[in-house]
Amino acid sequence: MQIIFHVDNIEEYLQRSKDYNFPDPPDRCPHSDCKCRVKLKKHGFYYRYYLDGPNCVKIAIRRYICPVCKRTLSYLPDFCIPHFQYSFNMIVKSLKETLTREKTLSSFINDLKRNFPTILFSRQHIYFYTKRIMNNLSFIIYGLRQIDPYIKLFEVSSQRERAREILDIINIVPLFSQRFYAHCQKSFLAPLT
Ligand SMILES: [Zn+2]
Repeated sequence: MQIIFHVDNIEEYLQRSKDYNFPDPPDRCPHSDCKCRVKLKKHGFYYRYYLDGPNCVKIAIRRYICPVCKRTLSYLPDFCIPHFQYSFNMIVKSLKETLTREKTLSSFINDLKRNFPTILFSRQHIYFYTKRIMNNLSFIIYGLRQIDPYIKLFEVSSQRERAREILDIINIVPLFSQRFYAHCQKSFLAPLT
């Protein structure tokens, strides 16, 4: 069984690897036919590959075992789930489409559905993310300045124009740093609940 947990600082996870401060195991076995109130024991690691831009990185996944039913539980960091990476690019793209109105929102959503049939992406999601990016522009700019303090922003007359400009910058930041990705997750990519 896998539990997905949120990692704030991806670089730290990658650097510390097995020494990362993993979440404590639950105090009850999560397997539905066991559910024993026992402390799960550390049970080593397994490795999986994570695509960090063009690089393939090996990451350690913490594993626990239930001393009663002997089944394992692993803690998967949320950043290594491909869905998150896909959605990042998709959200940025859809926000741009929404803000520039090159085509209608529904035709854009239809394209998305055709290309990524397994991913749920609705009009509601797009409204949600548009609102979030508009409300968090200064926080996002702050994140961009952490990567490049000389990023130049032009005078704009509306928040909407500012948002469009920010999305352009996000698109051309070539080495899309993990830190900025995490920052974006906080500022506008938080999942729709
Ligand atoms: Zn168990």
